[in-house]
Amino acid sequence: PTVFDVQRVRADFPLLSRTVHDKPLIYFDNANTSQKPLSVIEAVDQHYRLRNANVSRSVHLVGEEATAAYEGARDKLARFINATSRNEVILNSGTTQAMNMIAYSYALPRLKEGDSILTTVMEHHANIVPWQLVAGRTGATVKAAPIDERGELILEKYFEMLTPDVKLACVTHVSNVLGTVNPVREIARECRRRGIPLVVDGSQAVPHRPVDVQALGCDFYAFTGHKMLSPTGTGGLWARKELLEEMPPFFGGGEMIREVSFSGTTFAAPPHKFEAGTPNIAGFAGVGAAVDYYDSLGFDAIHAWEQQLLAYLTERLRDIPGLRLFGEAKEKEPVVSFLIEGAQATDLATLLDLQGVAVRSGHHCAHPLMQFYKVPATLRASLAFYNTREEVDAFITALLKVRKLLM
Ligand code: PMP
Repeated sequence: PTVFDVQRVRADFPLLSRTVHDKPLIYFDNANTSQKPLSVIEAVDQHYRLRNANVSRSVHLVGEEATAAYEGARDKLARFINATSRNEVILNSGTTQAMNMIAYSYALPRLKEGDSILTTVMEHHANIVPWQLVAGRTGATVKAAPIDERGELILEKYFEMLTPDVKLACVTHVSNVLGTVNPVREIARECRRRGIPLVVDGSQAVPHRPVDVQALGCDFYAFTGHKMLSPTGTGGLWARKELLEEMPPFFGGGEMIREVSFSGTTFAAPPHKFEAGTPNIAGFAGVGAAVDYYDSLGFDAIHAWEQQLLAYLTERLRDIPGLRLFGEAKEKEPVVSFLIEGAQATDLATLLDLQGVAVRSGHHCAHPLMQFYKVPATLRASLAFYNTREEVDAFITALLKVRKLLM
């Protein structure tokens, strides 16, 4: 096994040492939101203690420092996902805002009756509902490419469905329910050949693997800060410069204009054109620290450790009688969904909580995926690099115990 000093890493995350119901916390709900290292918490704290001012408008030193922290986070994110330019990175509140911005700024002005948007059956609602909202206004439709029982996208079908009526194609990089890693490069190549822009939901990919938007070849890449060690209410959207230049702004207001008058207003250049109003400056001070934290560990080490944990967790789960696993893709990130015969997911999750285990039960904002598997809900254990084999063991022990209680 790879040497990864997980105990040293855990010491950086204050919340991991708390107890719940008098039991040590086992936090296996990382796909929902990750915990935050001390460096991120301190960056936010330091911001409010020492650098709190608004961005861009100030010539005073504190304002310049706040601007440097905010714009510095953009630089770090641009490098983190290998954007061609910092001006291609829009800072926002996360994937939901990113998808809605694409829907209203890119799709709405272009869609007409008979057009369609292609997404997939395994998407989070954030990669479905915004498209339905703009489709409803324009007479366009949303269609979804199918998956197979293993939880892999049926790629030939996705490509077959990329017909000339498709004006926007969408796919998640990693499924938040199944952990499936989708072949974004191949999908991007096919979209490009057909001149269809591709939107990628990177929410569950960015926390686990190095992302290179140029190598992926997509056109939009959305991600959420709170799943990648950062404060809630932070996130970003990368988009090709040409697209951002063509797109009208979604929100109007301060910070996003060049000149305002009643005879006409001109807008700032991207990315600021898409950042109306005062942003989550302290949050982005935290994002900067989060990117530094990932850099300090490196994704080689993170990925190797998480894959070991995933393999171990999957192997241990397979031994549980009556357990049905959802998502057995060849390439996965550390997310495991399952059900146990004869027990409700929510009952299991509630009893697991009493054992100190935090997992999620429910539909995971993926109704169409639940409909595909014909289940109302699953139980989901999602790992991060600060989890341990001992936690997996304790989780399995707890699961066997609560299973017995419900049988
Ligand atoms: N897409 C995926 C795959 C997700 O897992 C999530 C968060 N559960 C989102 C989108 C939405 O992210 P947010 O709510 O942070 O905007």
